[in-house]
Amino acid sequence: MNRIILHCDLNNFFASVECLLNPDLKHIPMVVGGSEAQRHGVVLAKNELAKKYGIITGESLWSARQKCPELVTASPHHDIYVHYSKLAREVYSRFTDLVEPFGIDECWLDITGSTPLFGNALQIAETIRQTIKKELGLTISIGISFNKVFAKLGSDFQKPDAITSIPPQDFKKIIWPLPVSDILGAGKATTKKLTLYSIRTIGDLAQANPQFLKQILGENGLQLWQYANGLDTSPVHNLNSKEPIKSIGNSTTLAHDLTSLNEVRHFFMKLSEKVSTRLRHQELLTRTVQIWVKDANFNAKQYQKPLPFPSCLAKDINAISMELFEAHCNFKTPIRALGIRALNLKDQHEPEQMSLFELNSNNHKIVELENSLDLLKSKYGTNIIKKGF
Ligand SMILES: [Mg+2]
Repeated sequence: MNRIILHCDLNNFFASVECLLNPDLKHIPMVVGGSEAQRHGVVLAKNELAKKYGIITGESLWSARQKCPELVTASPHHDIYVHYSKLAREVYSRFTDLVEPFGIDECWLDITGSTPLFGNALQIAETIRQTIKKELGLTISIGISFNKVFAKLGSDFQKPDAITSIPPQDFKKIIWPLPVSDILGAGKATTKKLTLYSIRTIGDLAQANPQFLKQILGENGLQLWQYANGLDTSPVHNLNSKEPIKSIGNSTTLAHDLTSLNEVRHFFMKLSEKVSTRLRHQELLTRTVQIWVKDANFNAKQYQKPLPFPSCLAKDINAISMELFEAHCNFKTPIRALGIRALNLKDQHEPEQMSLFELNSNNHKIVELENSLDLLKSKYGTNIIKKGF
């Protein structure tokens, strides 16, 4: 029996939420843009009116204004987007427990087992579309198909506020004429390579020799061939089933280029605190710290080092980060961006032989203290309390 998979994509998500918060924005071309002072001045989302001017996500605000001088820019409100994203997932979970998020605004739903209760695929999709509109005030595009890859293509087919069904008997007619870059897993480099061999549409990809694709693209080539032929069998994972986390990282583009160790120390401390908080939330410890440094000429390098013992504390992560920086970096070219990543993670509760971390009761006290600080920050804002070291 064929599966029934929906792919639900909230339309122009960030821009639509901003228009909900400030309805005047609905009637003028607007984009959500990162802060230009912080040098994140790119278009993160645009409304339908801005789209008509040819403005695309990822382009600079400067270039967007060239296309549309009266363009209005709204600052992003990530907390509110997360809130709406959760509300949408709550609606989806009324129809199936198999809801798998893909980014903040997209989800796959496996509704194969839901039809006896809620009607056929089209009826369920229609109910979801109307419920999201009524309860959240947002529009959604839904793709219906027998696998995740085609369902996703379906949700891209008509936007906004639309449902597209791609049944097994019609997929060749609907999907094969599409450009190969439309399929999940065909990034820029892959598309370029395929074009070199005159593989331009998803149909060309489907009819290519899979062994040849494997030769030029490795395993990804074989997978793309399967996708194009409707042979994707990957399951929709349950929302609550946790994939093991492999790494936790935070990075920041700096408001001005850094030229001194003190400034670097300051930003590394901030990043260490963020990484530490996320580790503690997931009840994980890191065994290896990696730093990532980009200079003003956009040269990026990364360095890593194991910790003497697994830790989730900002002070330990920061100490190794500074050590790595001092050993490998200088200020010949000023520093534009910094990042810290915790690798080689382990469960806090999983015993480790001779672990100094677990034997050291002081560290337990610090973890408790940092957990309390997190609670304060989450209630009263990140600036409520600062470290004195
Ligand atoms: Mg979207």
